[in-house]
Amino acid sequence: MAILNILHYPDERLHKVARPVEKVDDGIRRLIDDMAETMYEAPGIGLAATQVDVHLRVIVIDVSEDKTGLMALINPRILQADGHTVFEEGCLSVPGIYEEVERAQHVVIEALDRNGETLKLEAEGLLAICIQHEMDHLEGKVFVEKLSRLKQTRILSRLKKNQRKTL
Ligand code: ZN
Repeated sequence: MAILNILHYPDERLHKVARPVEKVDDGIRRLIDDMAETMYEAPGIGLAATQVDVHLRVIVIDVSEDKTGLMALINPRILQADGHTVFEEGCLSVPGIYEEVERAQHVVIEALDRNGETLKLEAEGLLAICIQHEMDHLEGKVFVEKLSRLKQTRILSRLKKNQRKTL
């Protein structure tokens, strides 16, 4: 397994729309393993392939406290979404920034698992939020783009300042 490099906002590559996976093979399983290792090492609770500059519809998520809930979703599709919830989200591609975002409270999704089997999943709360956040990445969207222009401008200048400090 390998730790992959995570792209940081406002990198243009975060805006690419991911392609569906045509065949779940060993290459995809290796990608999933590397993404999981990268997510745990960061640490984060979700990672989309887009964030590691692989533009395929693959996400990994683990919202458990003890790293026992790893979930890999390939070609995820939302079948149903309802309710509203507001949560202060962060993102491995936007380090140090946490902002409130509104999303559906409950979702039903369909995806392929690492063996290429179709799975249907009902999620609410943090898991539902995380799934929607990661699926946005596959569409080339970063959560801060859901915020007002003013907030986005402030975030960009804060990120620039942080970069200067780490040089
Ligand atoms: Zn993210």
